[in-house]
Amino acid sequence: MKTLNDFNFENKKALIRVDFNVPLNDDFEVTDATRIISAKPTIIKVLEDGGSCILMSHLGRPKGVQDEFSLRHIITEAEDVLGVSVKFVEDCVGDKAEQAAKDLKPGEILLLENLRFHEEEKQGDKGFAEALSKLGDIYVNDAFGTAHRAHASTTVIAQFFPGQKCFGNLLAQEIESIKKVMQTGEKPVLAVLGGAKVSSKITIIENILDKVDHLIIGGGMTFTFIKAKGGNIGDSICEDDKIELALDIMKQAEAKNVSIHLPVDVLAANAFSNDAETQVVDVDDIPNGWQGLDVGPRSKQNFDEVVRQCMTILWNGPLGVFEMENFANGTIELGNSIAEATKNGAFSLVGGGDSVAAVKQFGFEDKVSYVSTGGGAMLESLEGKTLPGIAAMLE
Ligand code: AMP
Repeated sequence: MKTLNDFNFENKKALIRVDFNVPLNDDFEVTDATRIISAKPTIIKVLEDGGSCILMSHLGRPKGVQDEFSLRHIITEAEDVLGVSVKFVEDCVGDKAEQAAKDLKPGEILLLENLRFHEEEKQGDKGFAEALSKLGDIYVNDAFGTAHRAHASTTVIAQFFPGQKCFGNLLAQEIESIKKVMQTGEKPVLAVLGGAKVSSKITIIENILDKVDHLIIGGGMTFTFIKAKGGNIGDSICEDDKIELALDIMKQAEAKNVSIHLPVDVLAANAFSNDAETQVVDVDDIPNGWQGLDVGPRSKQNFDEVVRQCMTILWNGPLGVFEMENFANGTIELGNSIAEATKNGAFSLVGGGDSVAAVKQFGFEDKVSYVSTGGGAMLESLEGKTLPGIAAMLE
């Protein structure tokens, strides 16, 4: 796997696929610059070597050319974050783009217009990828968020840079973090899986049973397992068609010597609302008319003990309906336990969808070892899939 350090970019034009798909408000201002900040180390390394950067990205889901999705809107923010002025060209291929790339001098940055203004990007069109490839000398992929898509700029383009392509800092870090959990992690290894449904996590569960010593299951998924074990789950969320699967997972875990830890008690509510009445009840004895929306105090204590024993921790999915203040505490306390374990030397990776939102919302970002930047890409990695964007770089 080649990284930035395998190249000296002096007098070279680095064509960098970044993920600048940032949120904008109604005035087209960037409301969260995390993705630009994440790409900074890669960009700075190229500039410090004496090279120049041609940045390509998508923004949103435009249908053809739509000004609201123009990457022009993010120039000011990018300049603030990078501390360097950013040139812009209003297309990503063709004469104008080629001229702008040609005129670029060492130390300069050129941002191309939204790749998805051309439908060939998402189609993974080879001709379009080749047109893009004309702009730079070395291809750098630093966009983990789109590494699971076989698009022109993320995957297909790599073939036009034999021996002249590498992972950017961010993508290399993401790959390294996943490897630390899935392959080389110090034992005991723990995965905490929460979130709403078994069905969206099943492939992950099946893949990680071979890799972990402990599996904590929380969130809405809990109740399919508890019902499978014969418990009364009241009106809690449940996927009846996944009950057999839940039983099978528990059997597989036993055969593989993986300890599954389910909640033993829950904070139940008489409605799916922050203002509902609540009571703590045993997880397998929830009255009709009540639903478990967070884990209870004994479960938090149990989970804390498991987390503290483990040296490698993967966390995906909240333990309760964390969007509602009254049901966020289980997720917050789990975050505290993981932060504490991390402080004591464990490696912790948080990734995939809502867990990242929860971690940011509750301020755990700096207290865990790594927070993944890619929702779907992270989930597919945990499912054991080889991401096309990564595979193309290794060919
Ligand atoms: P996911 O995207 O699969 O990680 O699911 C995240 C969602 O699961 C969040 O929106 C939570 O509100 C929801 N969730 C977590 N626990 C529960 C629960 N006990 N009942 C219903 N929804 C839940």
